[in-house]
Formats: sequence, C-alpha cells, structure tokens
Amino acid sequence: MALRSRYVDGDLPYDRVIPAERWLGSLLAGAVGDALGAPVEFLSTHEIRARFGPDGVTGYEEAYGGRGRITDDTQMALFTVEAMIRGHLGRRLMFFEQQPASVVQHAYQRWYHTQGTPWHQAGGSYAMEAEPDGWLVHERGLHHRRAPGATVLTALKGFAGGAERGTLSHKINDSKGCGAVMRAAPCALWSEDPLDSFVVAAQAGALTHGHPSGYLTAGALAFVVHRLLDGGDLPTALTEVRAELVTWEDSEETVQALDEAVSMAERGKPSPDMLAKLGGGWVGEEALAIGVCAALVADNLAEGLLIAVNHSGDSDSTGAICGNLLGAVHGLRSIPAEWLEELELREVIERLGRDALVEFSPANSLTDPSWRERYPAW
Ligand SMILES: [Mg+2]
Repeated sequence: MALRSRYVDGDLPYDRVIPAERWLGSLLAGAVGDALGAPVEFLSTHEIRARFGPDGVTGYEEAYGGRGRITDDTQMALFTVEAMIRGHLGRRLMFFEQQPASVVQHAYQRWYHTQGTPWHQAGGSYAMEAEPDGWLVHERGLHHRRAPGATVLTALKGFAGGAERGTLSHKINDSKGCGAVMRAAPCALWSEDPLDSFVVAAQAGALTHGHPSGYLTAGALAFVVHRLLDGGDLPTALTEVRAELVTWEDSEETVQALDEAVSMAERGKPSPDMLAKLGGGWVGEEALAIGVCAALVADNLAEGLLIAVNHSGDSDSTGAICGNLLGAVHGLRSIPAEWLEELELREVIERLGRDALVEFSPANSLTDPSWRERYPAW
C-alpha cells in the first residue's frame, strides 16, 4: 500500500464541485436509515414480524423515546463531517504537517464527551481548554447515549487516557465491528481523488478498529460514496473499489463479502432470510455487504432502506450504510418528505452538511474568524 501524497502536500485549490443534492442525500438518507433501523436493531426477523406485521417496519417506530431518533451511527458520522471541514480548513491554512486522522481523532473525542464523560477526561491531549471547541459538540441533542459500540468507547477512552493513536500500522485491537464503516461515508468529501478518501476513511477507521475488515470496509464505503457523488453508478463504483481493495493486505474477507452482496443482488430482491446469508451486520464486512445488496436491488430509496433494516441484525448500521449509498445515487429529493420531517436533528444535520459544501467548494478561500470559530482547524 502506497500512501498517496496529495492530501499531505495539499493539492489546492479543490476544484471538485459536489452536487448538493447527492451529498445532502447521502448524509440525510444515512440518518433516515439509522432512524428506521433503530427500533429493530436488536430484534430478530421473527420478532420484527411479530411486533410490526409481516412486512416488518414500514416507517419510523418508537425508539429511544420517540420516532425518527438517530443513534450513534449518525452522531459519529456528523463528527466525521465536522472533522473533514476542520481538517480541510487546516490544509487551506497550510497546516500541512497535520494528518487528517489527527483531526478525526479529535472529533471522535468530542463525540466521546457527548456520551457522558467530562471533557477534561474525554479529550486526552486535545483537552487544553476547559470546554471542547466548535459548535457541533455543544448541540445538546447529540448528548444522548444511543447504544454506542463498546469497541469505540473503549478505544476512545484509551486514547483519552494517553494511549497512542491507532493507525494502519499501529493496530490498537483486533476488532472488526461495524463501528468504523457506519461513520465513514463523509470521508468521501476529503479529496478530488477517491483513493484519498479511501485512505483517510481507513485511517479514521483504524482509530478504533484494528482488524482489516473493520477499517478497509470504512475505506471502501468512502470510496464508493465518492464515486457516486461525482456521478458514477453503483455497480461501476463497486467494481472500481474491488480493484483497489485487492491491492490491500488482508482484504480477502471484505472482497468476498462484497462479491456475495453483488451476486445475491443479481438473483433479485432478497427476503430477510436470504439477506441473513450475508450475516447479521455486526461486523464491518457484513454491514457493508447488507447495505450494498439492499442498495443494488432497490427500485427506489425508500424500498432499499426498508430492505436494509428488516432483518435479524444490526439494522441501524445497515440502514445507515444503505442510506449513504442510495442518497448519493438518487439525491435528497428521493427521501420521503415525512421521513425527513420527523427525523431527529434534521436541521443540525442539514446545517452541517451545507457548511461542508461551503468548505468543499472550488477555490474556497473562506477564512473569516467566525468560520474558524465554528470550525477550528485542528
Ligand atoms: Mg447505532
């Protein structure tokens, strides 16, 4: 694996035009998929049918005290978006020595703080001030525990306690939980080159997940979403990412899971029992495979999200991944209006998403103090 130099050397200006429809579609449909899956995350297909009828969930149901509630998947994806903005501003300000993974680590320590740990304990080496900076972490609606993953909490606690940052060479554990891929899609913003997005997402994944199927799936999702944002189609993007994946060490499991997802999709729309052959989605390669398969077979975004959440397994994460994909394909307008209206923190998600479009716009030279206060560049 050769780390490419563009994002380190700062290949500016950023000439890529990201269509708002596709980017906001990817971000918000990810959140909608997460919210659709939240009520059934820990239910088997049998239990889902018993509770919601033969078709399972067909819209939002109650979870965490209301309908349309997002979970840790979306919370962490939002902090990934924020890290992309802050890291990119830093790159524009010529902080070339600053690696994107460091900015993402900082962002995830802020998320860790939202889960109930005081900042001076949660921030580790980033906790130089009494309070964390930027606006996102101060959104009270994010300060809820929504079944956060144990691997992620343990890794971030470890970093806060002084442990070295996890990287692709310094692996901090052997976890391949889906906690890295579920939050990775926003890394698609990072560069004009999808391979850079792959690398940054894999590095961001390795902050908490040391198994290749944990962080390579994150890289793969960011790569595919990158291609979709730029107008590519899903089958082609999957072929392209497969060609990249096979060049990485220990990628066999991820490649095989994607191959199985594609071949299942070729046989038509899978029942929940068929989908179970791809696994439960608790680990990275299964979550990616389920999200991909549902996205490939669906006639429209709503259908894909419902396929992605109605199965025994990690429904909110598979819903989020499928939403990241289909939202980028079909755009914001394809999300049913009633799902958008009832989505928790919809305004926060959209505000952050639109700010990302400002930062990642061609020849952006915005460096005014209020921007830097909302998005401190580290
Ligand atoms: Mg979740």
